Amino acid sequence: MDLDVIIIGSGVIGAAMGFELSKAGFKTLNIDRNHDAGTGSTSASCAIIRVHYSTLDGSALAYEGYFDWKNWKDYLGVEDDHGIAKFVECGCLVMETEQNEFLKKHKSICSTLNIPFEEWDSRIIKKKLPLYNQESFAPAKRIDQDGFGETNGSSINSGVFFPTGGYVTDPQLSAHNLRSAAEAKGGVFKFNSEVVDIIKYNGKVSGVLLASNEVINAPIVINVAGPASFKINKMAGVEEEMNIKTRPLRQEVAHVPQPSGFNFEADGFVVSDSDISCYVRPEHGGNILIGSEDPECDSREFVDDLNFNTEFTDQWDNQVHRYAQRVPTLGIPSRRKGIVDLYDASDDWIPIYDKSSLNGFYMACGTSGNQYKNATIAARMMVGLINYCESGNDHDLHPYEFYLEKIGRKLNMGFFSRLRKVNPESSNSVLG
Ligand SMILES: Cc1cc2nc3c(=O)[nH]c(=O)nc-3n(C[C@H](O)[C@H](O)[C@H](O)COP(=O)(O)OP(=O)(O)OC[C@H]3O[C@@H](n4cnc5c(N)ncnc54)[C@H](O)[C@@H]3O)c2cc1C
Repeated sequence: MDLDVIIIGSGVIGAAMGFELSKAGFKTLNIDRNHDAGTGSTSASCAIIRVHYSTLDGSALAYEGYFDWKNWKDYLGVEDDHGIAKFVECGCLVMETEQNEFLKKHKSICSTLNIPFEEWDSRIIKKKLPLYNQESFAPAKRIDQDGFGETNGSSINSGVFFPTGGYVTDPQLSAHNLRSAAEAKGGVFKFNSEVVDIIKYNGKVSGVLLASNEVINAPIVINVAGPASFKINKMAGVEEEMNIKTRPLRQEVAHVPQPSGFNFEADGFVVSDSDISCYVRPEHGGNILIGSEDPECDSREFVDDLNFNTEFTDQWDNQVHRYAQRVPTLGIPSRRKGIVDLYDASDDWIPIYDKSSLNGFYMACGTSGNQYKNATIAARMMVGLINYCESGNDHDLHPYEFYLEKIGRKLNMGFFSRLRKVNPESSNSVLG
């Protein structure tokens, strides 16, 4: 088979890349060591779709991507015998706190981008979330720290509600949908196949070597290997030159039953609460899913992507008890349930969508726990970047500008460069 592009990985971003490149006329092959699309870190994703980021470009990208989720079936243009993933557009409330500077910057970014939002005072919050205790507990602490569970005397007085948000009920299925859409356009997927080396010829990438010793050739190779991205970049010999690097970061997400008296699945929404450093979203079966917003008191555990502790630790207890400060009637189960998996964290929690120092070798990585929502738009942007570079343009010197069609705005892809300085505007957390 004469290939134009090899895509390493078939998570939500790799599969989207297969779809967008096939649509654009490239002959693509996605290679994955797992057995199906979306079975890597994508399957662990909370799959929250939100439009507020700490940077204008981050928000612009997310808002553009939102329209694909909203019109998921039309975007795919195919049926999938596994079913079609569902986007629950319940909205997202972000508490206004000292930690996020009362969202001044976010509101200004959203106004610039015409992203709709509503300002809620404490009365509206109480009406929408009657079980919520609005006392303030900041800064977030660990259970065994002095003062845990004690209010600091102030309270949460307001929040901003973004209606163009929510979550996808089955992230793995959404990647499978993208696989089906790619296949309908001629894209090919090869599973249970591990890439163990990147092959180069005459200063250019020329293919990959698989663990089975098979060599597959293509003039373009893209690293979309999620938490294994740093290994693939090392194989290609491009890691040294990168100013922003990527590392697998261990994460726990707790699933707990909703307390009685409020149906989160029917009446709830996504909530980001920097006062207790938790984000939550409804989960089917009457559950709530609790993630961490990476407060300073928690240590960051960088691990090997193939060898890490998949059991819950006291991090689970900390996240659940932090949320119980906000919802005192939360029942805390004796058996820990949820997910332990990895972010592919970049140095500034902003992804890398870029070329590399090796001609023909590209990367979409460093997704830092916040790029599920951007899979489709990141893939379209990468198609544009590949066309730009392969026609002889120097993206490092003259960054490619991508047009965000739905929101009518240009985005300079230098923002996602591997050579950038650490972005000082970033939240340095999963919030991006
Ligand atoms: C716990 C958790 C919660 C999250 N919550 C959210 C959220 O709410 N909202 C949001 O926007 N984002 C969220 N994210 C982030 C989002 O899920 C990821 O950014 C996204 O799923 C990454 O997709 P991917 O395709 O790049 O990587 P992956 O899904 O990890 O896919 C990479 C693939 O590469 C394959 N691979 C790796 N190495 C090799 C090799 N050598 N050879 C062959 N194949 C290889 C793997 O098998 C894997 O299938 C979360 C992530 C986690 C872990």
